[in-house]
Formats: sequence, structure tokens, C-alpha cells
Amino acid sequence: MDQFDVVVVGAGNAALCAAIAAEERGARVLVLERAPESESGGNSRFTAGAIRFAYRGVDDLRDIMPDLTEGEIAQTDFQSYTEDQFFDDMFRVTRYRSDPVLCELLVRRSFSTMKWLSGKGVRFQPIYGRQAFKIDGKFKFWGGLTVEAWGGGPGLVESETQIARKRGVEIRYNARAIGLLYDGSKVSGVRIKERGQVKEISSRCVVLAAGGFQADPSMRAQYLGREWELARVRGSRFSTGDGIRMAKAIGAASFGNWSGCHAVGWDFNAPEFGDLDVGDGFQKHSYPFGIMVNALGRRFVDEGADFRNYTYAKYGRVILEQPGNFAWQIFDSKVTHLLRDEYRIKQVTKVTAGTLEELASKLEGVDSKAFLQEIASYNAAVQRDVPFNPNIKDGRGTTSLNVNKTNWANTIDEGPYCAFQVGCGVTFTFGGLRINGDAQVLDEDLEPIQGLYAAGELVGGLFYFNYPGGTGLMAGAVFGRIAGGSAGEAAVQATPGGMGQAVGGVTAVA
Ligand SMILES: Cc1cc2nc3c(=O)[nH]c(=O)nc-3n(C[C@H](O)[C@H](O)[C@H](O)COP(=O)(O)OP(=O)(O)OC[C@H]3O[C@@H](n4cnc5c(N)ncnc54)[C@H](O)[C@@H]3O)c2cc1C
Repeated sequence: MDQFDVVVVGAGNAALCAAIAAEERGARVLVLERAPESESGGNSRFTAGAIRFAYRGVDDLRDIMPDLTEGEIAQTDFQSYTEDQFFDDMFRVTRYRSDPVLCELLVRRSFSTMKWLSGKGVRFQPIYGRQAFKIDGKFKFWGGLTVEAWGGGPGLVESETQIARKRGVEIRYNARAIGLLYDGSKVSGVRIKERGQVKEISSRCVVLAAGGFQADPSMRAQYLGREWELARVRGSRFSTGDGIRMAKAIGAASFGNWSGCHAVGWDFNAPEFGDLDVGDGFQKHSYPFGIMVNALGRRFVDEGADFRNYTYAKYGRVILEQPGNFAWQIFDSKVTHLLRDEYRIKQVTKVTAGTLEELASKLEGVDSKAFLQEIASYNAAVQRDVPFNPNIKDGRGTTSLNVNKTNWANTIDEGPYCAFQVGCGVTFTFGGLRINGDAQVLDEDLEPIQGLYAAGELVGGLFYFNYPGGTGLMAGAVFGRIAGGSAGEAAVQATPGGMGQAVGGVTAVA
């Protein structure tokens, strides 16, 4: 039987951070990736690489982006994003449900984890295209999300994979973990299926980082509810809840918002699973500058309730709930220059028209008469005396509509017009396993399961109802690093001739 100190299940961001952290502690580490190498990296590889962390100002950013030029600094107002702001955002969007222990670790370790990643060789850059608008010749960032990984998600996964490999971590592709070796008191390895063969691998500790259950339609319908099997999966087809199932099979506790998930407006004709060539291009996130209508021709949500970063992850569910499970996003020529780059991809469900009447006739599945009435009432309700400003919550809303728009309301009356059909794209599920501050998986008596750690999407308790953009990668990195550090330390201590025999009860990494 193969033997390792630490086996990490998964090869996304959380798993690779865990592998690097475990190796840093002196452990011999194996990473198991269910996908073939060409599709490896999980949801992490599908991201744009945007990552949220607390920083005090440009000097902190320089620490993690040594490539930042004086020219960039001179033409940019990077603002700051304090730990208090990060806490406020987490608790506001999760309606104060986020687990305080997990949230505290996420926020307080966010910057040190970015420094750790940068120190290991992961490169970052400012997100000029999506999170900053140019005002009076200067870029101004808004919404607390300022940095992305160089090369986006693919760049991040590639860089973490190379770092892990160079440190001696072994990575096996097409190797699916199917069960945990457990004697009733301690996990001692994994059972895997590799190229059709079932094998056992022995290890002192196992870190589960195998993603959520979003790619399993029956689990979606079972836990998220009616019609969720109809949603498209934005990312990896391999996140079918394996890690959660394996841990629950040996008595792990479930935790968090099992009926909740991150889901967005996603091209209505996007494929069943994510397409790595398109990445996150099927998302359509400029709705704060336009309106969304359903099949009845009616608006159904406050498109300008908050910055996109704080609403996009919950609006997929609202779209799924509409008749026919779709909506059309409508923009006029006053705002098309503000549309994000994902509106210009080749694989887009889009119509254009010179007049509103022509547009109404082109919106497939929509009651055109009701749509024209809706636009007329909406236009009449816009507070035209309040100036429009996309960088702040400008308070330019509508009044006296059944569904008002709170910010960025512009009349829709200048052709040419364009419209984009969106459905629901599920990103990841919020419910999962329960861990303590050392990322040890807890059993149903809330005691640590010896030898078992978890990180990333399959951990429950951080996100409820909604999510602040860029937190998935940060959570994966923070808890991956903690899980790997804890597992590595426990494994090394338990090695004969090591520092001790006990597995578990280890000190968290700083
Ligand atoms: C299109 C898209 C865009 C996104 N954009 C962003 C963004 O810009 N910023 C952000 O913070 N978040 C973003 N997210 C969310 C983010 O991707 C995730 O929250 C985060 O990457 C999850 O990391 P993870 O390591 O937990 O899971 P994953 O990256 O999904 O990794 C799970 C891994 O486990 C493997 N696996 C599954 N089952 C097994 C098994 N049985 N055995 C072995 N391996 C297994 C999978 O193949 C995969 O490698 C986005 C997600 C999507 C889909």
C-alpha cells in the first residue's frame, strides 16, 4: 500500500494551498485529483481569480504586488478595505449567520495569507477592468475587491500546481477518492479509484478539499429545492459532493446553509457544465446599470440594491424562480459602454434593436405589450434630478413602483437597445462539513475526527443566502493553509522519531 504523511483530496485552490502548507511543515504529501489533468483545478480554474482581502492602503498592496508600477499607483485610487469593512460585508450579506469563528479566521488571516501566497511565488494584479471606473483620468476602486491572480483562475491553479510540484508534492490525476479508511477512532488513509482500479493509500492525515455538491443534480434538488436540477453548473463537473459524502459516512457533522448556494445570472443557452475556454464569460453582471424583465414583461428584483459584488450571488436564485426560469437584461445606448467584457463574448444570447417596439418583438418568450408598459412606467419613475455615478451608490432610484430600483436608475429611451437572455448558473453550494479553528472535521458530537481536515467549498457555515464577491478563493486559501498546516504538523509529530505521537489538537498556523 502507498504511504504518505498527508493525502489531500482535490487539486483546486484550497487543496493546493493545503498541500503546500503541509509540505512546509515537513510532511510527505500526495494530492489526488479526480479529473484528468486537462480538466483539473476544479472551480478555482474557472474563476477570473478575483480575491477579497483586507488591506490598509497602497503599501499593503505593494507588499503582495511587487510588480505594481509607480505609473499605476499615480493613476489609481486604490482606497483601503479594512478588516472591519470585510466583517461588515460578511455579516450584512449573510444576515449575521456566518459562523463567528470561521469568519474571524477568514477576515483576520486574509492579508497574511495573501502575503504567504505572494511569498511562495503566486502573482497578483489590480482588477482594472471590472472593479474600477475611470473618473477625471484616475481609476477608482469600489466594493472592496481590488486584486486578481495573474492569468485569472487558470493562472492561479497553474502557479500553485508548479509551486507544490517544485516542493516535492506528488499530484495524481484521474484518481478519485471514494472512501476514508477509518477504524472508528482515527482516519488512516483513503480508498481511491484510479484508472478503473480500486486501491488504498495509507496516510497519517487526510485533507478533504473536493468542492461542493453543485454538479450533482439530484443533490441540488434534494437540498436546494424544486427546479434546482434545471440550473446550469458554472464550473467543474467533478464537484458532486464526494468529500462531503465520504466524511458523513464516518459520522461527520453537517453545517451551514444546506438549502443555499451561490448562483448568478448566466447565459440562458450556456452548456450544462462550465467550459474552460469561456471561463466565467457566460455570467452577465452589469444588470445594476439596466433592468431585468421576466416572461410576463415585468421587473422582479431591485437591480440597483447594492454594488454587483453584493447582489450577483443571490440573483441567480431569483431568476430561477421566474416563469420559464429566465430573464432578459435590457440596456440602452447611454450605458452600453459600462458593460463588462463578458457581454462581448462570441457565445452570447443577445438581441439588438433600434426602437423599443422592435426590441419587444425580439425578446423571446416575453409578453411584448406588458414589456412596453413596464418600460414606460419605469422611465416615468426614474429620479432624473439625482446625478448618475457608477462608482458610488448614487441614490438615483425610482419611486412608487411595485419593485423600485435603488441606485443607478437611468431611463431606457435612447436606441440602439440591446438585451441579453439569462438563466440561473449555480456556482457552489453553501452547506457542508463542520470544522474547528484548526480545520479539523467535527463529528456529530462536535468532537474532532482524528486525522481528518477540510477546506474550501465543502466546509459549511461561512456563507448563508449570499456572498461577497471574491471570498471563495480567499476562504479556500485561508482554510486550505490552516488545514494543510494542521495536518502536516500532526503527521510529522506522529512520525516515529518525530516530535510526538498525538494526532489532533495541534496549534493553528499563524
Ligand atoms: C465561473 C466561476 C467563477 C468564479 N469566480 C470567482 C472569483 O473570481 N473569485 C472567487 O473568490 N471565487 C470565484 N468563484 C468561486 C470559487 O471558484 C470557489 O469558491 C473556489 O475556487 C473553490 O475552491 P475549492 O478548492 O474549494 O474547490 P475546487 O476549486 O472546485 O476544487 C475541488 C477539487 O476537488 C476535485 N475532486 C472532486 N471530487 C473528488 C474526488 N472524489 N477525489 C479527488 N478529487 C476530487 C475536483 O476535481 C477539484 O479539483 C467562481 C466560481 C466559478 C464556477
